[in-house]
Amino acid sequence: MPELPEVEALAGYLRERAVGRRVDRVEVAAISALKTYEPAPAAASGRTVTDARRHGKFLAVVFDDDLHLVVHLARAGWLHYREAFPSGGPLRPGKGPIALRVRLDDGSGFDLTEAGTQKKLAAYLVTDPAAVPGVAKLGPDALAADLDTFAGRLRSRRGQVKGVLTDQTVLAGVGNAYSDEILHAARLSPFALSDRLTDEQVAALHEATGRVLGDAVSRSLGQKAAELKGEKRSGLTVHARTGLPCPICGDTVREVSFADSSLQYCPTCQTGGKPLADRRLSRLVR
Ligand SMILES: [Zn+2]
Repeated sequence: MPELPEVEALAGYLRERAVGRRVDRVEVAAISALKTYEPAPAAASGRTVTDARRHGKFLAVVFDDDLHLVVHLARAGWLHYREAFPSGGPLRPGKGPIALRVRLDDGSGFDLTEAGTQKKLAAYLVTDPAAVPGVAKLGPDALAADLDTFAGRLRSRRGQVKGVLTDQTVLAGVGNAYSDEILHAARLSPFALSDRLTDEQVAALHEATGRVLGDAVSRSLGQKAAELKGEKRSGLTVHARTGLPCPICGDTVREVSFADSSLQYCPTCQTGGKPLADRRLSRLVR
């Protein structure tokens, strides 16, 4: 799933490539992906791309400053910039991976795509990004929050720190992958309770958040959209690295599985050498 660094890089790429171009038209191939009716996609035609921004993990393309195409890429969504589109008529609604296409006046443009059968990509065409429920509820940006804001937000919600850190209403931008990375960098157990963290632990978590996300953003900037996923993978220390050695201490990275997700951590770095209970396994044992 694209998180803060990838969405930031996609916005940066669009700012470089699409700003100043006029919209030829917006084509919707996956009707269910477009969550708004008014304004209609035709309202974008003839407008100029004036900006591309990030709101948490949402990407927003701005047309003439007051029409926003806000997109949540969900788990398997992505943006593909095309220098040119294959010839032929407009996109037909269908079962392919393309959800939405934006054609620009120089023949280039971009496709919003979603792999797999679970269609969760959500696009909104709005005059104000705050009209998108998920955007309105976002907490402060995880990369921009100073220590006081960060600490206040984190302690406002009682729960396992992994869950609190990925709650977009607490802090915006961090998802499953980067929370694994941040907790590893801060040497904290994903199951530590947010309201029991010491000031030192909160400060370490704040520092790790800024460092992990900042490093990922700088690695991603200047990358083409297609190269971003590889770039993300290359920077990971524990996430999606179950069974591989921790690059810090050499211990084996372990995993805890949930119904539809999993987390990875290093026991030596994060949990005093003790493996965390994997609920899936303990259920089998019980
Ligand atoms: Zn380690």
